[in-house]
Amino acid sequence: MATVEIRNVRKSYGPVEAIKGIDIAIQDGEFLVLLGPSGCGKSTLLRMVAGLEGITGGEIAIGGRVVNHLDPKDRDIAMVFQNYALYPHMTVFDNMAYGLKIRGIPKAEIRARVDKAANILELGRFLDRRPSQLSGGQRQRVAMGRAIVREPAAFLFDEPLSNLDAKLRTQMRVEIKRLQDRLGITSLYVTHDQVEAMTLADRILVMNHGVAEQIGTPLEVYQRP
Ligand code: ADP
Ligand code: ADP
Repeated sequence: MATVEIRNVRKSYGPVEAIKGIDIAIQDGEFLVLLGPSGCGKSTLLRMVAGLEGITGGEIAIGGRVVNHLDPKDRDIAMVFQNYALYPHMTVFDNMAYGLKIRGIPKAEIRARVDKAANILELGRFLDRRPSQLSGGQRQRVAMGRAIVREPAAFLFDEPLSNLDAKLRTQMRVEIKRLQDRLGITSLYVTHDQVEAMTLADRILVMNHGVAEQIGTPLEVYQRP
C-alpha cells in the first residue's frame, strides 16, 4: 500500500519552475530520502506534501486521499523539525500530548498514547522533566514522540540534523535508524547529506534542478557509474 503518492507534481514561483513533474509513491513503512544540492527543490516538495506550499500542477494523495486542497492540520502527517521545536516551559509529557490536546482527543486516550510512545522511545523516566533537563538525543526522541502519538500515515523530516555538530549528528542518525527499524514508520526525509541518505533510506530520490535524476535503493544509487 502506498501511503504518500506524488503524481506529476509541479511548482512554479512566477516564471521559475522549481519542481518540474515529480512522480513517486512512498509505500507503507518505507523510508524515502530526498537527496540533492541546495536549491534543487527538496524543501519545496516536502512543504507541498505538508500543505505549507500550494501546488501548481499534479496531485498528492496521503493514505489514499487526495489532499491538494486540504489544510496542513487536516492531512494525516506529522512533521519533525530541525531544532526539535519543543516547548521549553512544558514537561516532556505535555510536549508529547500537546498535538493531541488541541485536536480534542480525550484525556485517557492521550495518557495511553503518550505512555505507549514513551515506552517505545525509552522516555518513561523523563516524562516530568523539561527539555532543558534532557540530552540532545533525548530531545530528539521527544520530538519523535510528539509525532508518533499522532499516529499519522506519514512522517515528514525537514533536514532534522543539519544544525547539529558532527558528533551529535552521528548519534541522532543512529537514533533515527533505530526507531525506523523498530517502528517501520512511513517517512519522507529531506537532506543534502549523502551519509544520512545512505544509512537511513530504503530508497533515495536524487533531485537536481527540480527533476528526479535517480530513484533507487542506496546500493543502486551509489553503484551507478
Ligand atoms: P532545497 O530545499 O533543495 O534547497 P528549495 O525547495 O528551497 O530547494 O528551492 C527550490 C528552488 O525554488 C530554488 O531555486 C529557490 O530559490 C526557489 N524558491 C523556493 N521557495 C521560493 C519562494 N517562496 N519564492 C521564489 N522562489 C522560491
Ligand atoms: P532551504 O535551506 O530549505 O533551501 P532556504 O534558506 O533556501 O531553505 O529558504 C528558506 C525559506 O525561504 C523557504 O520558506 C523558501 O521557500 C523561501 N525561499 C527560498 N528561496 C526563495 C526565493 N528565491 N525567493 C523567495 N523565497 C525563497
